[in-house]
Amino acid sequence: MHSELEPDRATRTLWAKGVLDYLDDFIDGLPDAPASWDGSTAATTTAPPGAGPRPLAGLMTEVATAVAAAVETAGPGYLAYFPAGGLYSSVLGELLAQTVNRYTGVAATAPGLVGLEQSVVRWLCDQFRLPSPAGGLITSGASIATLTALHAARVDRLDQPDPRATIYVTEHTHHCVAKAARIAGCTDAQLRVVSVDAELRMDVDAARTAIGRDRADGRRPFLIVGTAGSTSTGTVDPLRRIAALAAEESLWFHVDGAYGGGFQLTEYGRTLLDGAELADSITFDPHKSLFLPYGTGVLLVRDEQTLRSAFSAGGDYLQDLVDDPGLPDYADLGPELTRDSRGLRLWLPLQLHGVDAFRSALEEKLELARWAYDELRADPHLDVPLRPDLTVIVAHSVAGDDATRRLLERVNAGRRVFLSSTRLAGRNAIRLCVLSHRTHRDRVEEGVEAIRAAARRS
Ligand SMILES: *Cc1c(COP(=O)(O)O)cnc(C)c1O
Repeated sequence: MHSELEPDRATRTLWAKGVLDYLDDFIDGLPDAPASWDGSTAATTTAPPGAGPRPLAGLMTEVATAVAAAVETAGPGYLAYFPAGGLYSSVLGELLAQTVNRYTGVAATAPGLVGLEQSVVRWLCDQFRLPSPAGGLITSGASIATLTALHAARVDRLDQPDPRATIYVTEHTHHCVAKAARIAGCTDAQLRVVSVDAELRMDVDAARTAIGRDRADGRRPFLIVGTAGSTSTGTVDPLRRIAALAAEESLWFHVDGAYGGGFQLTEYGRTLLDGAELADSITFDPHKSLFLPYGTGVLLVRDEQTLRSAFSAGGDYLQDLVDDPGLPDYADLGPELTRDSRGLRLWLPLQLHGVDAFRSALEEKLELARWAYDELRADPHLDVPLRPDLTVIVAHSVAGDDATRRLLERVNAGRRVFLSSTRLAGRNAIRLCVLSHRTHRDRVEEGVEAIRAAARRS
């Protein structure tokens, strides 16, 4: 029986073709698509839904208009923030997951797909050399993963909320840690901002001093965050030394690898992130360094039980569900109950392309960033202060802050690449990040040329 909400097979095929044809044209058009748009949004307003149906073709025209009013975050010219592109194979995994609509909040309702998701989580734990009883959770992004980790850390180290609880970060720690702390009921005074060295890495001796002073003042230090690839500059903190300090002081050691985590697949990355394997928790965004579409983050923990202790809860209406001894109930490992089946969007690309395809794409991005760094550093109009740890390059115009701002505007106005900016030691800096699976040498050369041309004029 077909109802109006359950189209027959012929209609499904027709609708799917309408959507997939549009997507094929979209993907094929990405190399020539402008990197940004003219800023107008008027055309994207759409009428509210009517009582009756409308044909798909007209709706797709509205979708296309709305899609066009955007920074081209899927395209090869997107070099701002953290580009990932969005793997089509992951989109297909998502289509599968959403169509079969398995319930993965608990293992009992879908042990097959929970098992598949768990195979991805275990593989990720292996990449970070976290042995059993490690575990984790696929989330919507690193911000939620960080909030989850922070709550687990607090429960594990302090049990109850405590206004004396203190967290150690640097000025380059992502603001999602401060946000998570606030959500968890901490005041800003409970966040200790430790100084950084000349290369912007956490000064571990300064952290040790601050912890000692805070203990003497009656505070309760419980969490220290090391960043594996900072947002402004891609800088990696001295993770092994932070881990040692955390162990001395019995602090929970959280590694923010939202951006840098994917590089763990490369030999270079494993060396750079040395010490991450000592973390109590690690966040990592596959929608950054594994090229997935937005909406996928990961939290890994040294001991899965720490998540269960922090999040396990129940209700009478769940009494029919039995625990699977071999598989976790994801609802017990984080704040969500009902959740989509998030494993397929990682599992399918990893299996379909193979891990080497990811490894070599990441190695390519590292090489491109080093090449761009050398080119920009050699330009007399630019001041390029930091050798990139990963694939973020920051540069100032030698003519000052206003010139740096004009430089960015000129480069972006060309609409072949799109860069963002940041501030370093009080100075404006343009920021270029090579990370999309669609960005290759030709576009990086074009971007570097555009920057150099703009720098000469700024
Ligand atoms: C992007 C980022 C985050 C936040 O991740 P979302 O997935 O955007 O929530 C946290 N930390 C770092 C270092 C990041 O780069």
